[in-house]
Amino acid sequence: MSTRNCFLYIKIIPIYNFISFYKLVLIYLIKEIFLFLSLFAVHWKLKHHFRNGNIFALLPELSKNFKTVSVDVVQCPNLTCPPFNLAAEGLNGDETVIDIGSPSYLLPLVNLSKVYDIRDFTKVTGTDPLFVIGAGAGPWPHAGVNCEFIGNVQLTSNDSIKNNSSHIYKVDLQTESQVHNRLPQDETRFALLANFFTSRGFKGQVLKIVCETRNGPLDFVTSIRQALAKYFGNKPVGLGGVILIETSKVKVHVMRDFSKTPLHSETDLNNWLKFYEADTPLVGLGYLVSHDPDLDLRPQHFHLFSNHGVGGHYHYDTEPTTVKYTAYLNVAKKLIRVDQPEIAPLFGKD
Ligand SMILES: [Zn+2]
Repeated sequence: MSTRNCFLYIKIIPIYNFISFYKLVLIYLIKEIFLFLSLFAVHWKLKHHFRNGNIFALLPELSKNFKTVSVDVVQCPNLTCPPFNLAAEGLNGDETVIDIGSPSYLLPLVNLSKVYDIRDFTKVTGTDPLFVIGAGAGPWPHAGVNCEFIGNVQLTSNDSIKNNSSHIYKVDLQTESQVHNRLPQDETRFALLANFFTSRGFKGQVLKIVCETRNGPLDFVTSIRQALAKYFGNKPVGLGGVILIETSKVKVHVMRDFSKTPLHSETDLNNWLKFYEADTPLVGLGYLVSHDPDLDLRPQHFHLFSNHGVGGHYHYDTEPTTVKYTAYLNVAKKLIRVDQPEIAPLFGKD
């Protein structure tokens, strides 16, 4: 991938403060020089402070879908330890959610020019050190085929890689079974679309959400997002982090290699994706955003990985009576939209 110096307009707009209710009122346009893919990036900023009282906004919707629910603000466990095995200890410091690219670059046919690199992120976020976790399409130039990406990277100053514990999942061309690979330390690329939570990776306080025994129609991630949407309306709230699914099985998909025939509908897309029922325990990385301020955002996106060869794009648990989710999530202070396509996709954001 090549990058070049360019001038970019960055729009910084206030977004709603989920935890503190403080609302910034400055709207301004700045012009900066930086290096990042020669693409427009839209920044939304907010300032937040944890207050226990506001987290209970999550409870009504979660309680409609799960028998046992708890929401707390806790000290984040060391996420470098099992079962999480992340590249950094925590989710604190300059918390940001980033939506890059779009299903429009995959559908109806792939745009192979859309290859990005996590090593370019510090130019956009200004975060140092930078810890990046999330879900996207994998680095096909490395894998040889299209694949699912679970980004899990810590960068230090000068964009050097301190720890790359990223994963990819692809579909075996002969057997159609899943193939799991860890990426080499120096492979930080991904393609087409991705949704990340970034921070400095510092220890600190986070939201802990535990839900057991699903008795409603919504999956765990959708339950959280809809709870925020109902409580905060058109004020966007972004959360990101890690979800541990200890029990049940989970419906996931892994993308097959790029379709040679155009995918024009949800049905075409679902026939092309390869679906699996994955055994737990599984760890998920990604983000959710409660309201789209007209940026063609993907509202939620989590990818799962494990030590037993299975993973992929999270859909829902398939044994709801036994399921247990434990999430450690942090609230984003800003949202960055990168490389939004001119034409929004009509499907493919589930
Ligand atoms: Zn996905």
